[in-house]
Amino acid sequence: MLFHELNISEAVSKAIHDMGFIEPSPIQKEAIPLLLDGHNVFGQAQTGTGKTAAFGIPMVEKIEDKRTTQGLVLVPTRELAIQVSGELQRIAQYKKWMVILPIYGGQSIERQIRSLSRGIHIVVGTPGRVLDHIARGTLHLDKVSFCTLDEADVMLDMGFIDDVREILSRIPPSAQKALFSATLSPQIKALIQDFVDNPRFVTIPHKELTVPNISQFYYEVRESEKPQALTRVIDYYNPNQTVVFVNTKIRVEELKEKLHAAGYEVEALHGDMKQTQREFVMKRFRAQHFDILLATDVAARGLDIENIDLVVNYDLPQDEEYYVHRIGRTARAGREGTAVTFVTLREIKRLKDIERYIKTKIERKRLPSLEDIEK
Ligand code: ADP
Ligand code: MG
Repeated sequence: MLFHELNISEAVSKAIHDMGFIEPSPIQKEAIPLLLDGHNVFGQAQTGTGKTAAFGIPMVEKIEDKRTTQGLVLVPTRELAIQVSGELQRIAQYKKWMVILPIYGGQSIERQIRSLSRGIHIVVGTPGRVLDHIARGTLHLDKVSFCTLDEADVMLDMGFIDDVREILSRIPPSAQKALFSATLSPQIKALIQDFVDNPRFVTIPHKELTVPNISQFYYEVRESEKPQALTRVIDYYNPNQTVVFVNTKIRVEELKEKLHAAGYEVEALHGDMKQTQREFVMKRFRAQHFDILLATDVAARGLDIENIDLVVNYDLPQDEEYYVHRIGRTARAGREGTAVTFVTLREIKRLKDIERYIKTKIERKRLPSLEDIEK
């Protein structure tokens, strides 16, 4: 099947062609026609399978050339607001009149207010900043006709649910809704009915939650061995780009110091950094100015960076879903990748819980020796 069979406009077809998309991915094949037909959709598909365009293409198609905010996308992190807005802008590149704006915390609110006052067709925002603009009267959602929750399960989870509920109460009940995620717990699935009338659930059938082109391993290590184990793993796999997930901001900073001392060029990303610094780091990482990013779970969801071929769980994630999202930063759009997880002896049971959740076995390996690395 090709994109033009999906009934999309010349302008959007041309943009998709420029983006290098030839065939729609399975989730795009299923979700795009339903959304173009006006249905509410909850789409679940594995990481890196094109969920952004699955809602982005119909959204861009449905927005009209009127200077009101008709599209709203809610995302959990600032980095995702920027990335998703960028992808929508690429999809809309031949609809020159269409204006798409990311709004998120940490960026000058005055600048956002100026942009909003000029009339924005699609706003891509984090819930806190969206609410801030609503309260100031600088963002009006009464003309929204298409609303998306990306990473929907986390948007409906405890940390965000109150904000999201408040925002959704500001948009017309008739607005079309699209919710997308790679993971969906039964509790969240039950909740969706409260927010969305008659949603069509589109699930791409697969046995595992993770994509098969990620090779998954674990190493049993002591806590004190972790820094050396990390440098061994990096030297051994010799990846293009690596993301190392660490459970706390303090541990990210400590590890950064240790790796610098060992001569590795690494940078950090976490929620205690200034926004300008976060953006600078992401820009440089995408441009491959450095190869190893140490991050908290702020980078676990949604980020799409082509050259990441190794993900390391330096610490075991706190819950099973985050394992799926973290390792999903590699092997995107059909590429290959490796995910390695450090597990201490008393965490083995939790690793087994993760295996059960993802319905995949994570193979145990021995740490590469210095001889292995020299080969
Ligand atoms: P997800 O949200 O499912 O994790 P993304 O929407 O971030 O995945 O897409 C992953 C990558 O695949 C992006 O770089 C995107 O541009 C690319 N992509 C999306 N759809 C297609 C397609 N039909 N053909 C080729 N590449 C695609
Ligand atoms: Mg996504």
